[in-house]
Amino acid sequence: MAHLLLVEDDELLRDGLCAQLMHAGHSVDAAGDGAQAQALLESTRLDGVVLDLGLPPVQGVAMDGIMVLRWIRQRLPHLPVLVLTARDDIDDRVAGLNAGADDYLTKPFDLAELLARLAAMLRRARMPAFDGTLPGDTPSAHRLRLDPQLPMGWLGEEAMELTHREWSLLGLLLRQIGQVVGREDVLAVWQTQAPEGGLGGAGAGSNALEVYVHRLRRKLQGSGLNIRNVRGLGYMLELQTP
Ligand code: CA
Repeated sequence: MAHLLLVEDDELLRDGLCAQLMHAGHSVDAAGDGAQAQALLESTRLDGVVLDLGLPPVQGVAMDGIMVLRWIRQRLPHLPVLVLTARDDIDDRVAGLNAGADDYLTKPFDLAELLARLAAMLRRARMPAFDGTLPGDTPSAHRLRLDPQLPMGWLGEEAMELTHREWSLLGLLLRQIGQVVGREDVLAVWQTQAPEGGLGGAGAGSNALEVYVHRLRRKLQGSGLNIRNVRGLGYMLELQTP
């Protein structure tokens, strides 16, 4: 199916995952550190990468997964990368997504979930690029304004830096301020990168969604607006009660 690179320093886990990925029909190259990973990335045509963030130094020089990920993003901007994080640490996940990961899993993870996330990630990667536009006029509320076509926003006079996904998520919330926006609706918009749309695998990307919400909350600090988690339903943008 796909040609994958697995970067994992834990030999037992690496061998086990390698066997499972091959069993699922993928061909797999495996690397135990960042240098091996770079050599394979330079010499092999790959469809996707599974990258452990906690990697050992190479000949005494630090080379963790985030560094490998930044290196990949500079050279192979469209290569889908799923990162594995050891700790249930939101900062680690945010760092991974900031450095350009497409999705992540926290160890220990379920093999079925890894395979489902990989499949969804590879499917997204085959879709044509999102042109970045959402329908409608400049959405705004309170002091928040979003550009209708570019991933930019303003809080009062102050510009907000937003990624495409942050901007489309915030756009959805802002257009329906005071109403619950379903998780599936957000994920579906993220899927509008292709005309056929549709998420297929259930739950794909929903871990990433939590992290994006967390990031937006930080960016909205002091704005008077808050993103509320409505359990089991989704998220709602609301005016903060003083
Ligand atoms: Ca590790």
